[in-house]
Amino acid sequence: MRLATIRTATGTRAVRVDESSAVETGDADVRALLEHPDWAQRAATAAGPTHPVADLDYAPLVPNPEKIICAGLNYRDHVLEMGNELPEYPTLFAKYAPALVGAHDDVVLPAVSDKADWECELTVVIGSSVRHADDAAAEAAIAGYTVMNDVSIRDYQRRTGQFLQGKTFERSTPLGPWLVTPDELPAGGWRITTELDGETVQSSTTDQLVFSAVDLVKYVSAIITLNPGDVIATGTPGGVGAARTPQRWLADGTVMVTTVEGVGQLRNVCRKETISS
Ligand code: ZN
Repeated sequence: MRLATIRTATGTRAVRVDESSAVETGDADVRALLEHPDWAQRAATAAGPTHPVADLDYAPLVPNPEKIICAGLNYRDHVLEMGNELPEYPTLFAKYAPALVGAHDDVVLPAVSDKADWECELTVVIGSSVRHADDAAAEAAIAGYTVMNDVSIRDYQRRTGQFLQGKTFERSTPLGPWLVTPDELPAGGWRITTELDGETVQSSTTDQLVFSAVDLVKYVSAIITLNPGDVIATGTPGGVGAARTPQRWLADGTVMVTTVEGVGQLRNVCRKETISS
């Protein structure tokens, strides 16, 4: 089952996305849907108004998550190519909801920096509250998987030891287009890619993750209760612009396509922010 949040003339709606049409579930967005303990049944049997899939205007998959948690330095190939040792603990940082945009929205490149970089990421969406999870509880708490591009403003990210200021620029981070429930996905090792204007710049597989989705849910749930609609981005593989020689950055007009095989695809045009005085 695929679930999305779409924009309509009268506000956002959660939908089940079928082959050619999307069916409203009666909820304002995917978080509100997931807050029903019987969300899977509710979505599977939804019979609200329908929309042609080709016409959908995707909002951020979860427009207002309680938590957006991101893992850094979590792909084996990337860590080793950078000459680092595999980490004992995950690197975690956060974003705020105003950083999110929909799957086909413009990504805003900040006026104050010219060092915007790309990071394709497999992303977990939480479907039930969980604290101090073991493997089974962590797996059961995962509603499904989606795609994020953790667009990163590298000069801000590296101004201090804390990543936050480079990671939560307004309207920087596409999330969506939908979540796919685990039962629809093949066993792990999904290809994950970023293309810029048709050129592949990142390509790896999710079996390179150091800390798996379940590992991350367990780890974070030891710190704080994870709740329905929370998202955990699992980190990005090699091929980012900052690690290239010469370095390379997103530019006004760049078309950025972010794909996790079997999960979904984001397609966003980058637009330089202009500050009106
Ligand atoms: Zn990232």
